[in-house]
Amino acid sequence: MVYQANSARYESMEYRRCGRSGLKLPAISLGLWHNFGDATLLDNSRQLLRRAFDLGITHLDLANNYGPPPGSAEENFGRILREDFLPYRDELVISSKAGYTMWDGPYGDWGSRKYLISSLDQSLKRMGLEYVDIFYHHRPDPETPLEETMRALDTVVRQGKALYVGISNYPAELAAKAIDILNDLGTPCLIHQPRYSMFERWVEGGLLEILQDKGVGSIAFSPLAGGQLTDRYLDGIPADSRAASGSKFLNADQLTSEKLEKVRKLNAIAQRRGQKLSQMALAWVLRGDKVTSVLIGASKTSQIDDAVGMLANRHFTAEELAEIEAILV
Ligand code: NDP
Repeated sequence: MVYQANSARYESMEYRRCGRSGLKLPAISLGLWHNFGDATLLDNSRQLLRRAFDLGITHLDLANNYGPPPGSAEENFGRILREDFLPYRDELVISSKAGYTMWDGPYGDWGSRKYLISSLDQSLKRMGLEYVDIFYHHRPDPETPLEETMRALDTVVRQGKALYVGISNYPAELAAKAIDILNDLGTPCLIHQPRYSMFERWVEGGLLEILQDKGVGSIAFSPLAGGQLTDRYLDGIPADSRAASGSKFLNADQLTSEKLEKVRKLNAIAQRRGQKLSQMALAWVLRGDKVTSVLIGASKTSQIDDAVGMLANRHFTAEELAEIEAILV
């Protein structure tokens, strides 16, 4: 059936300015790292995208290597875009990245100009797009001069292949340098994409302050720690979960009894607040004003509903924050 977007899609989502740019991002963005590759039924991926957009999630995050196999998430997304979303292209912010291993040989990885520009060309073909809205360097490259990588980002904007650029996984000091170089080139850095959740708090050690000072937005990836900060694993490992999927990013060994004990205590606070743990974990990342958007993953449309439901209850009392802090230390 032809997809007709929900006419109320802009009524409940909150849109937040990304740094000092003109672009606003939804408080919740959807990532296509899992559940969009060839191993997933296309119809499930389609339902996830439809539900997200129907709820005002206008920002979709991809990368060259998402799948498996690498490239297949962009291909499948391209197909769904063609079939469902073309009338809505200008209502979407579509991101891609390059920085991890994508093809064999010395030009398919890291941060050279050669790799970044050819990878973006490939991504555009796979998705059937003329440009992406945001193009990121996915991780720092210890060997390529930072100037070369930033110049490649500046080039793709000047070529019209990306509207904005960002960096991901850059530690604080290197991020500051990259942002300064991009400013000098006349292509401001729009956004930084770091990992950030109740269980992964390195960004609090300076990065978030630097971004705020320099007027750069931030989008926190894996805000649910891949599903650990939800009720998913409270009674064992469900067969349809990421931890049961053979993922090298989340496996049973990571779900230690110590961690599950913390999850149970956090879950009790969430229940008292009248929300799910997943909702409290997202609200916690958005507390204060330093994070522009939380970048979630979802295997089911109900998980997208849960995430958006968080917006109705995302403020914490000082006592709640202190109680959460005492659990996390
Ligand atoms: P999350 O931490 O949000 O984990 C998502 C997973 O949590 C879901 O797939 C689901 O797992 C589980 N989940 C979500 N909602 C619920 C719920 N309400 N109840 C129970 N379980 C729930 O994020 P991801 O790790 O998936 O990362 C999100 C995005 O971040 C990626 O798609 C990608 O775009 C980006 N990313 C960027 C990286 C980078 O280097 N820049 C690295 C990693 C991610 P299940 O499958 O078990 O249902």
